Amino acid sequence: MMNDKPQIMLVEDEIHLARGICYNLEEEGLRISHFETGESALKSLEVERFDLIILDVMLPGMDGFEACRLIRKLDPRVPILMLTARSDDSDRVEGLENGADDYLTKPFNLAEFLLRVKGMLRRSSWYRPEPVEEGYRFGDNEAFLLSYRAKTAQGETDMTEMEVRVLSLFFRKEGQAIQRSELLQTVWGYTSDTETRTLDNFIVRLRKYFEPDPAHPKHFQTVRGVGYRFSRSGSSV
Ligand code: CA
Repeated sequence: MMNDKPQIMLVEDEIHLARGICYNLEEEGLRISHFETGESALKSLEVERFDLIILDVMLPGMDGFEACRLIRKLDPRVPILMLTARSDDSDRVEGLENGADDYLTKPFNLAEFLLRVKGMLRRSSWYRPEPVEEGYRFGDNEAFLLSYRAKTAQGETDMTEMEVRVLSLFFRKEGQAIQRSELLQTVWGYTSDTETRTLDNFIVRLRKYFEPDPAHPKHFQTVRGVGYRFSRSGSSV
């Protein structure tokens, strides 16, 4: 059935790169719509929905960061993969702060790119059939994973697909130290030990939503040399 194929949005003004990406994703059985500007992509998002958005940072007109912020207003859930040009950290951090869920630095390896896309697309059946209780309370927060919403001390917030995946894993493994590699594999579909700041920036985001004092986290704890641990009560283990 045609309509069951995931629909990808690609926003990229470099025509050669865009053609290569389109070709390879179509080979993988995905449907892809290509836009050359953030403005045209946003217009399309008002009437269409996508399963994944691949967004270049350097675009004519509004840049990818601005586009990302505006996309989040139209679709708070959709996974967004940013393509960043610079190898320094500032682009990656800025993308993740604007609501992106992962990034790849150009030039990237095609195999890595495809793995990343598939990982983000994987409609994770693993968390849907056995959701932790709806309205999961911790601290001053209540998370509604099935409806992608949370109530926090700062008010109500929408969550992205990837945020829900992370929280689902944390809630199920409450109190246990979870390795970075397990988080990256389960949530993003990483297969190797790729160096990435994605996870750490995600934790920063979750702490901003849910921690009374994000600089001194009680719920989303760093486990040195291992990864992270979620504590429902907020007590240290
Ligand atoms: Ca570009």
